[in-house]
Amino acid sequence: MEKERKKKVRPEQKQRRPGMENNMKPVPETTPRPSSGGGKLKNKIALITGGDSGIGKAVALLFAKEGAHIAISYLSETKEAKHTQKLVKQYGVNCIIIKGDLSKEANCQKVIKEIISEFGQIDIVVNNAGLHWECDSIEKLSSKQLLKTFQNNFFSYFWITKYAIPYLAKGSTIINTSSVTAYRGSPSLLDYSATKGAIISFTRSLSLQLIEKGIRVNAVAPGPIWTPLIVSSFDRKKNSEFGSDSPMERAGMPNEVAPSYLFLASQDSSYINGQVLHPNGGEIING
Ligand code: NAD
Ligand code: MG
Repeated sequence: MEKERKKKVRPEQKQRRPGMENNMKPVPETTPRPSSGGGKLKNKIALITGGDSGIGKAVALLFAKEGAHIAISYLSETKEAKHTQKLVKQYGVNCIIIKGDLSKEANCQKVIKEIISEFGQIDIVVNNAGLHWECDSIEKLSSKQLLKTFQNNFFSYFWITKYAIPYLAKGSTIINTSSVTAYRGSPSLLDYSATKGAIISFTRSLSLQLIEKGIRVNAVAPGPIWTPLIVSSFDRKKNSEFGSDSPMERAGMPNEVAPSYLFLASQDSSYINGQVLHPNGGEIING
């Protein structure tokens, strides 16, 4: 449904240059908004997929520090997930961990059900789980692998979001993890970078679809970040060089990425929708 683009949302008015703020109807709001001291997400319920380690873990800890209760979904790393749960709880919030392969639709539905039965609501969804498998030739990239990568990295975001929507009230936020590879390409991660591009388009379209529900949808596209995804995907030499080709000549740490998610999750970004933040060590990309 196309929206009528222009309608009267304030009284007709006109002033002489340079204009007087106090005569405007309404008067522009310029006093700083109430901000934290640590309570930006107080009593919010946040789901972070892949929150056991890396970027998701840093996001879980920062959100907890700001007062959110956390649900972490993870693939198989129970020991790490339990440790992260312990760290999250040190901020005085509740934290549940949910194991399960989100490349399967039924598991995505189960994650949402578990959160609702534990917390009764969801306010923030961070779609962040992801894996990649290197392959340097399209001719060698099997259809099975292509489907697996899309099920793992893209369908999971779609399903988690789909099953969460009925529980998301006005003011809720969804944040999707894309990647710098969606913008600059990656010759050895053809399928992965394509999922990250799909995530951008999904973010943009969904942000428009959900405006009328008062739910904002944005994305983060990290550059090279030092996480288990990296050491478990690349060879020893590549891991030793990882990130050195970025403008800042280093990889980022997960806690340098997490503040982008906090910004998009909180009301600080209340006028931002369908956009992408780029914590990527200074690489200038279009979009
Ligand atoms: P990470 O390995 O620490 O986190 C990814 C997590 O996703 C894992 O802990 C795993 O439990 C979870 N996961 C993967 N597949 C899953 C599945 N099918 N079901 C449930 N959970 C699953 O690595 P990370 O780098 O923090 O990755 C987080 C996100 O950031 C990913 O989407 C990744 O593509 C993206 N990203 C990472 C980088 C980087 O350089 N590290 C750069 C750009 C984007
Ligand atoms: Mg992990």
